[in-house]
Amino acid sequence: MDIEFRSYCMKCKIWVGSEKTHKCSTENLVVADKEMVGIVDRLYMMGITPMVAVWSTTELGEASDSKYLITIKIDIGQKISEAVLGELPAGWQYHWHTVTPDRSELHMIAYVEHWYNLGFGESAETRVYELIKQFEDYLDTRDCEAVKALLLLLEV
Ligand SMILES: [Zn+2]
Repeated sequence: MDIEFRSYCMKCKIWVGSEKTHKCSTENLVVADKEMVGIVDRLYMMGITPMVAVWSTTELGEASDSKYLITIKIDIGQKISEAVLGELPAGWQYHWHTVTPDRSELHMIAYVEHWYNLGFGESAETRVYELIKQFEDYLDTRDCEAVKALLLLLEV
């Protein structure tokens, strides 16, 4: 599956074609799907700088089942205290370790769902957009300055 990855500069709030032609340091750049920019901008305002923010839908099983695996992943590049953002919306989780034996470190906030197309006119993509919007709304309820302060205070 081809996913269109592009770099987005969170500082300038523009898409950059190549990291080589853009002057900002790489920590301001995130590889993101375009729908994820709202989330990325909000996290950046709080002092959390994501490195990757992508979503995908994968059809599972028989085509007639219309069953999909939906994932939304935000690699935030560093471990943060879970107290910083507080309780995440239902279905969203922090992932600090992989399940592989080496327990390599992850820095991920992710949403995973098995979604069934029940034929109400909604597609897996519209479900993703809805989930992204819900997470944006959740981030809007956070106090940016408080998050920044807690990030420094609770550095892990
Ligand atoms: Zn820039």
